[in-house]
Amino acid sequence: MAFCRVRKRGVGGDGRGRIRLGRVGQESCQYCGVDLDEVPPNEEVGYLYGVECARCPPATRRSLVLAREVRVAFLDCPGCGTRLEPAEQHPDVLVVKEMTYERCGGCGERCGVARVRKLKDISGGTM
Ligand SMILES: [Zn+2]
Ligand SMILES: [Zn+2]
Repeated sequence: MAFCRVRKRGVGGDGRGRIRLGRVGQESCQYCGVDLDEVPPNEEVGYLYGVECARCPPATRRSLVLAREVRVAFLDCPGCGTRLEPAEQHPDVLVVKEMTYERCGGCGERCGVARVRKLKDISGGTM
């Protein structure tokens, strides 16, 4: 995931380092700069499926991460179109993660990840 979790406050603030407890994420939205302690983000769940499709030709086969809003019954491989079904039991679906995203109360963008719960991981830790 490429979320930027740490955002330094710009210079010219109050000059005191602000120490915060209880939050591990960033303290202000990377998009609009709203203070996430004052405007708590909304949490929103989504799912990531880590796929390595055995039907794709070896030359183009690669690991894919497919994002879905809800848990799905099947996934269509974006490489070769094969339907992977059932999604969570299919041997080519190596990882299923339940992501809890933080959606900024100021601008509505997803500004961070609150929690990750692995529902499945047969990748051996590679995904
Ligand atoms: Zn494929
Ligand atoms: Zn924002």
